[in-house]
Amino acid sequence: MSVFVVVGGTRPEAVKLAPVVRALRASGAEVRIVATGQQPRLFDETLACFDLSADLRMEVEAAAPAAMLGQLVPRLGPALAGARAVLVQGDTTSALAGALAAAYARLPVVHVEAGLRTGLAEPHPEEMHRTLIAQIAQLHFAPTSAAVSALAREGVAAEAIVMTGNSGIDALLWMAAKVRGQPVPAALSAVDWRRPVVLVTVHRRENHGAGLAGVMAALTELSAVAEILLPVHPHPAVAGPLRSGLAGLAGVHLTAPLDYPDFVWAMGRATLALTDSGGVQEEGPALGLPVLVMRGATERPEGLASGNARMVGTDAFAIVAAAREVLAGGAAAMAEPAMPYGAGDASARMAKAMMARFG
Ligand code: UDP
Repeated sequence: MSVFVVVGGTRPEAVKLAPVVRALRASGAEVRIVATGQQPRLFDETLACFDLSADLRMEVEAAAPAAMLGQLVPRLGPALAGARAVLVQGDTTSALAGALAAAYARLPVVHVEAGLRTGLAEPHPEEMHRTLIAQIAQLHFAPTSAAVSALAREGVAAEAIVMTGNSGIDALLWMAAKVRGQPVPAALSAVDWRRPVVLVTVHRRENHGAGLAGVMAALTELSAVAEILLPVHPHPAVAGPLRSGLAGLAGVHLTAPLDYPDFVWAMGRATLALTDSGGVQEEGPALGLPVLVMRGATERPEGLASGNARMVGTDAFAIVAAAREVLAGGAAAMAEPAMPYGAGDASARMAKAMMARFG
C-alpha cells in the first residue's frame, strides 16, 4: 500500500490538508499526519472538525521561524520513514521544515497550494518559504492558472505541475453545507445579527505594530455603523494590542479563535470581511462575502480580478471609506459569489495525480 506522510502545523494547513487526506484515504492510500507543534491547539482542533487527528505530534519550543526550522528538520526525519511521498501545504515554517526533512531523506515532496507569489520580498518569510519549497518539490499542485505560470517562470517542468484548484475551497463547501441553516452558534451569540456584521481577522507579521494601529482606528470608527466580530489570533503581537485597544467598545466583539464550523457560519452571515488572511481571501468570494484585504500586496490576485475583493492596506481612512461603501450597498458586484480559487474538486484531483504517480 502506498504510504503518504502529511506534515503540517497551523490552522490553514489543517483546513487545506484535511480534504486531501480524506481523498487519499478514500483512494486506498495509507496516510499519516504529522503535527509539527507550530500551532498545536489550532491544528488539532481544526483537524477534528474533519473527523481527523494527528498520528504523531512533535513539540517545538521555538517561536521564531529560524529557530523552529532548526528544531523541526532533524526531528521530522524519522517521522517520514517509509513514505512514498511527503505532502506539505502553503508557505509556513512547518511546510518548509517538512519539505527539507523529506529532501534530506531523499523522499519526493508534494506541494499543495504551489505557485502563489507576490513577486516581492514581502510577505517575509512566506514568499521565501514557498519559493524554496518549489525548488525542492517533485509535484506541484497549483490552485490557479496564475500559479501555474509563476512556477513555469521559475523553471518548474510542465509535467511536474497539476492545476487542481485550492483544497481550501473543498473544505469550505463541505463545511458550509454542514452549517447551513444552523442557529447562531453559542460563541457568536453576543453579536446582533440583525445589524450589518463586519468579520475581521488580522494576524500577519507585516501588520504587527503600525499596521495594527490603523486597523484598530478603523474598527473603532466602523463600530458606529456595524457590529464588529473579531476572533483574536493567539499571536501575542496582535492579541495584546487588540485586547487593550478595543475591549469594551460598544458593538465590538473580541472572541477566541472560532472553531472552523463557527467561522464558516459567520462568513455565511456577515456583510463584509476585513482581513489580512490568505484563506479568507479565498473563502469570501465563494460565499459571496465581499473582502477588503488589509495588506499592501497579495499573492491571491484572483479575487481582485473577479471583483470580490479589494486591497485597502492598513490606512484607517482607506479601510473606513471602502467598508462604508460596501456597508451602504454600493459595491454589489463584490457580493456576487464566484469561484476563482477552484470548484471544490481540488482534493479529488490531487489524490488522482498522487495515486497515478506514487500509487
Ligand atoms: N479561521 C477559523 N477560525 C478563525 C479564523 C479563521 O477557522 O477564528 C479559518 C479560516 O476560515 C481559514 C483559515 O482559518 O480557513 C485561515 O487561517 P489564518 O487566517 O490563520 O491563516 P492564513 O490563511 O492567513 O494563512
